[in-house]
Amino acid sequence: MLAMAMEDAPLFPLSFSKVASFRRCRKQYWLEYLSGQEKPPDPMNPPGIVGKGVHLAMHNLCDSDDPEVARDELDRYLRMPAHDVAGPGTEWHDLALRLFEAGVEAHDSIQGEDRWSEKDTWVPYPAGRVSVSARIDRIDYLGDNRWQIVDWKTNRVDNDEATDSQLDLGHLAMRVTLKHYGRGEKREAVVRAIAWNLRTGQQRVRLLTRDDAVATLKKYAALARRIQANEDFTATRGRYCGFCRWQPACPESEPTLPADWEDVEPDEGEDESAEE
Ligand code: SF4
Repeated sequence: MLAMAMEDAPLFPLSFSKVASFRRCRKQYWLEYLSGQEKPPDPMNPPGIVGKGVHLAMHNLCDSDDPEVARDELDRYLRMPAHDVAGPGTEWHDLALRLFEAGVEAHDSIQGEDRWSEKDTWVPYPAGRVSVSARIDRIDYLGDNRWQIVDWKTNRVDNDEATDSQLDLGHLAMRVTLKHYGRGEKREAVVRAIAWNLRTGQQRVRLLTRDDAVATLKKYAALARRIQANEDFTATRGRYCGFCRWQPACPESEPTLPADWEDVEPDEGEDESAEE
């Protein structure tokens, strides 16, 4: 009876952002996914606007193969009143244009037979009682059963662990959305997954097989069990509080010492001048 009820229950939806929020601060996770409170708008931050604008332009470039079309899209995005902190005349606007031109070079360097821009899907895994959100910026078929996926990066510094997780999810998105390519020898293909940073030029590469995609699903099923079993939503503040949309109403985000450390006096130290 209990097994039947479990089978009827909806799969637990899990995404990279949801896992990241749970790891970062459980109070943030609770506010974001469990509280039912209306979400405040994201803090307006110029790097975020630049990143979104450049991604939008890169998707258009992948679709159209025409830099002018994609550049116009980026220009319109940055001129929106909501994005004026990165509008024309700002250093962020110049940065967005530079990153896009690096993106045009990257696009021209990929010689493939077919390509797909932004694939974004849910991957249901009933045996693991989880449904995993998976997305990737670009997929290329390079011929001879060679595949490549690309996750465009625009930050000054990338977090390698987070980048690898995103590539694994991107790989899952590719295998699931292009299911008809997953048969026969194509099923055995090793996919070259690249996190391509348009600011630094760095490429972080992972070579991924179908078994790796299955392992990713299993990993997210285990994470889902862990997150669902959690009942403690204590805040754990950190540098990321500045990027948290809930910060204005979060007293725990203040950087303070634990109360019982406040009376701790610094050590006197040796007076070196006294020895001379
Ligand atoms: S502001 Fe910081 S401590 Fe508060 S919920 Fe957000 S991440 Fe957690």
